Amino acid sequence: MTDVPRYDFDVVVVGGGIAGLCAALTAAEQGASVMLAEKSPRAERGGNTRFADAQMRFPHAADEYGARAYTEEEMIGDMMRISRGRANRALIETLVRNAAATVDWLTALGIEWEAGYPHTAGYRRSPKAGGQGLVDTLFRRLEGRETTISYDTGAIELLTDAGRAVIGVRCASPDGLVDLIARGGVVLASGGFQANVQMRVAHLGRYADSLILRGSRHDTGEGIRMALDIGAQAAGQWGDYHSAVIDARSPAVECGVTALYNFQMGIIVNAQGERFLDEGEDFRDHTYVKFGKAIIEQADGAAFCIFDQQMVQREEFARAWRPVGAPVEAPSIPALAEALSIPPENLERTVEAYNSAVQPGEFDLDRLDGKATAGLQPPKSNWAMTIEQPPFVAVPVTGGITFTFGGLKVDTSARVLNVGGQVIDGLYTAGEPMGEIFYYNYPGASSVIRGAVYGRIAGAGAAGRAAERRS
Ligand SMILES: Cc1cc2nc3c(=O)[nH]c(=O)nc-3n(C[C@H](O)[C@H](O)[C@H](O)COP(=O)(O)OP(=O)(O)OC[C@H]3O[C@@H](n4cnc5c(N)ncnc54)[C@H](O)[C@@H]3O)c2cc1C
Repeated sequence: MTDVPRYDFDVVVVGGGIAGLCAALTAAEQGASVMLAEKSPRAERGGNTRFADAQMRFPHAADEYGARAYTEEEMIGDMMRISRGRANRALIETLVRNAAATVDWLTALGIEWEAGYPHTAGYRRSPKAGGQGLVDTLFRRLEGRETTISYDTGAIELLTDAGRAVIGVRCASPDGLVDLIARGGVVLASGGFQANVQMRVAHLGRYADSLILRGSRHDTGEGIRMALDIGAQAAGQWGDYHSAVIDARSPAVECGVTALYNFQMGIIVNAQGERFLDEGEDFRDHTYVKFGKAIIEQADGAAFCIFDQQMVQREEFARAWRPVGAPVEAPSIPALAEALSIPPENLERTVEAYNSAVQPGEFDLDRLDGKATAGLQPPKSNWAMTIEQPPFVAVPVTGGITFTFGGLKVDTSARVLNVGGQVIDGLYTAGEPMGEIFYYNYPGASSVIRGAVYGRIAGAGAAGRAAERRS
């Protein structure tokens, strides 16, 4: 039997998405020697982050991108409200209070910005080249430093000492096993378990085996499992996940951005031609995740977004949608129903009932305009416009899975806690493996910033611990 080769660093980061890259860069800025171990081949690096638009929500004054001012208190309020009060307030406050400085730090690293999708509450910004551009820039910055990046290197087991502190991580590499020893700490930034069908079914339910996977095939939950194996505490909503209203014709794996961000401009019906949710309940980036899951719960996980030309002709209609295929078009509602295999009389009844319930008012997608239906169940509470101008247009939609909500218990310093609530020395986590941030639903544009903020905190923590132990 040969010994497993061992390599020593100050900080070992597991995973190279936004969280891992921010952890590695921050640790390197502090003078730490850093190893970033990434399970995927180089060509597939970047995790879920590379598939994202990577829009970021953060508090700021009214800005040149046309966004209105968004305060820290508002963002904390949105994140707490959307989690129905269950998110860990201390973690949320840390995220929010560090978010703007983190965006400035990314800007200093060369990230350029543009306005995000239209018709949110107006507080988001996108990296110009999306998530792919974001990770490419950060990898370039990391490559320019004294750091090691090892691809095809998947972490399989945490290494601990007699005091149960984490001292490193064992990885499977093309050359066999390697032990990466970390003087300061290991940062788990290895994503959620959304790409692991077995874990998905075990925690989300049996329907979860067939969900379309929006992001990386490599996020299979080893980081979370390895931490639980050494006594870390599970936290957050293990039975729930991030979804979206996506084109039902999307590829089954790594489909990327195929979401319809314009569903609030029309109505959504199921395969029986019935509405089942309030399309205008809130800004669409406060509803798209739970609507994705509501669609999954319909028969066959299928539904259709239906629009008329009043909406299709608007410039923002196309801007908020990257089609996978052509929409279905028809000159009348019964003809549209035929084309979609919906019972025509049902769809006609639904559209008639909806049209006659629409109230007058000013239609304004940039605010909750209160232009609603009256006496209709479910109502449409904002942006209710009649569906009357042919040709009518439909897009088949379903919900996919983006990332999982269940993860590890962490403190505001990104340190992982054990089942007894004590810090596991030498173990940090950031990004998707963190529990207690999202519950039930999701405030759009808050996961990449979560990864960036906690990645920086984790990287700084592990580098600081290495410095202490060196002196
Ligand atoms: C289509 C799409 C659109 C999105 N749009 C947005 C958006 O606009 N705004 C927003 O905030 N969020 C968005 N998200 C969500 C967001 O992109 C992710 O939640 C976030 O980027 C996750 O970052 P992360 O660093 O935690 O994980 P990831 O980026 O997934 O990185 C994890 C890395 O760990 C690696 N890894 C896994 N297991 C191991 C192992 N055992 N050993 C070593 N490495 C391992 C993976 O290969 C991967 O590279 C979107 C996601 C998708 C898929």
